[in-house]
Amino acid sequence: MNQDVLVRVKDLKVHFPIRGGVFNRVVGAVKAVDGITFDIVKGETLGLVGESGCGKTTAGRAILNLYQPTAGEVAFRGVNLGRTSPGNVRRLRRHMQMIFQDPYASLNPHMRVGEIIARPLRVHGLAKNAREEKHLVSEIMQKVGLNTSFRDRYPHEFSGGQRQRIGIARALATSPDFIVCDEAISALDVSIQAQIINLLEQLRDDLGLTYLFIAHDLSMVRYISTRVGVMYVGKLMELASTNELYEKPLHPYTKALLSAIPIPDPPLERQRRRILLEGDLPSSINPPAGCRFSSRCALATDHCRTVEPEFREASTRHWVACHLV
Ligand code: SF4
Repeated sequence: MNQDVLVRVKDLKVHFPIRGGVFNRVVGAVKAVDGITFDIVKGETLGLVGESGCGKTTAGRAILNLYQPTAGEVAFRGVNLGRTSPGNVRRLRRHMQMIFQDPYASLNPHMRVGEIIARPLRVHGLAKNAREEKHLVSEIMQKVGLNTSFRDRYPHEFSGGQRQRIGIARALATSPDFIVCDEAISALDVSIQAQIINLLEQLRDDLGLTYLFIAHDLSMVRYISTRVGVMYVGKLMELASTNELYEKPLHPYTKALLSAIPIPDPPLERQRRRILLEGDLPSSINPPAGCRFSSRCALATDHCRTVEPEFREASTRHWVACHLV
């Protein structure tokens, strides 16, 4: 295994059973994640993008071992999380954290900020005594740009951006290597989004962090990601370096998503040709046969509707699943 690979995801599937009938038998499955493979290299930010319901959040949670994979594997620091002991998983979990979309819903409204940040320190026994705990909490609050005198305040006393800083501080408490940012800026105002992106980048560089940055549109991930993966109905459609994906997209779905982003240059914006996606995202209970995107792809052929395209390396480190590439 490449020494620089921090997270390895191989053929990961997460299916949720659907039960029905008098005997509550399993009658089907939601194939939220249906076979995805990629690596995350130390120090990079991998953006994972797709419409709501495409499986990106489930993938993030399965990587953190919060969902049990139905098939496939996730390895963190070279350890296969499905094959190691529960004690070892607990020890490794300390180094993998998550930042949530809605900072307010994810923060206990009855706890003071200092207690919210101290809790992971206590769970993992990372402070020797109350004095050290207080010192560590102050240090973390400073790292994320929160005034330490706010430690006795409650989450409702903060703005959305500050609440997200509390969520980031809580994730940093255990000194993780890897953080899944699940739509971490989607609920914030545009001006605040830029501040949080800058903070995450600065923390990545200062603390040597690695991120999986989950978002629902491509404009959000461009400035923070080193590589970007595009998901559709439980599968990866394309994965490439950020520059390559935005400058030379190969998959029709990626092209359609990119065409929806306004260009902040009036002459270029006037020339922008929007590729409209017809219809809704197909159900992940009964995904289309062959290529998952065939029901909405203007280029689809009969071959596309029957044979699933392989996810292959079309050019160096540029992966795509399309018969026409
Ligand atoms: Fe479109 Fe066919 Fe490519 Fe799928 S395989 S994206 S249907 S052209």
